[in-house]
Amino acid sequence: MKFTVAIDGPAAAGKGTISKAIAANFKFAHLDTGLLYRGVGKKALAYSRTSFYPEISEQLALELTPEDLLSDDLRTDEVAQAASKVAIIPEVRDVLFDFQRNFANQEGGTVLDGRDIGTIICPNADVKLFITASAEVRALRRFKELTKNGHKVSLQDVLNDVLGRDARDRERTVSPLIAAEDAIIIDTSHLSIELAISTAIEAVTVKFKVK
Ligand code: C5P
Repeated sequence: MKFTVAIDGPAAAGKGTISKAIAANFKFAHLDTGLLYRGVGKKALAYSRTSFYPEISEQLALELTPEDLLSDDLRTDEVAQAASKVAIIPEVRDVLFDFQRNFANQEGGTVLDGRDIGTIICPNADVKLFITASAEVRALRRFKELTKNGHKVSLQDVLNDVLGRDARDRERTVSPLIAAEDAIIIDTSHLSIELAISTAIEAVTVKFKVK
């Protein structure tokens, strides 16, 4: 049996939480594909803090190891911004493509979350969800998380970061962030985490039952 759930959406919309909850509920394997881009972005930062060269970034993507993805500091905003810069480079996306496809093709259930899963990586996924929320709500969530963890940031700066990353992800020519035509859209702006999770699990259950 193979069953694939593709989850896409902008930063801080709740994709990660929902993906983990689906994986735990159905005992599916989960791949957070953003980590792959963050891994390359972090390596690229070590080369240059301002320019992201295609040849070097492609090489860094080829050299990515599982250990690179375990590093604690992949979750910083600096790495997120770098990730969205290397993610524009087609050669980087090509290198990461096979790994993601192979993950989705393994036996059993899989959940992949990212930006282009339902459109490019798994266009034949059994369920496609597009998790979104307004930029203001996403920035506020991120702001609260950062302040809780002791980071000194302003809400305006966090909003600017969210908007900057959104623009890069939506406007790039290769694999832009866009909902697949057959994706179920879940707007979490006014949903509690619990309701967002149960809505997503319900959508997967409906398809899983008939498989
Ligand atoms: O999801 P996360 O915030 O960890 O992703 C970091 C960045 O990686 C995104 O802003 C996006 O530019 C890039 N990304 C992508 N395609 C994916 C997953 C992430 O371009 N499938």
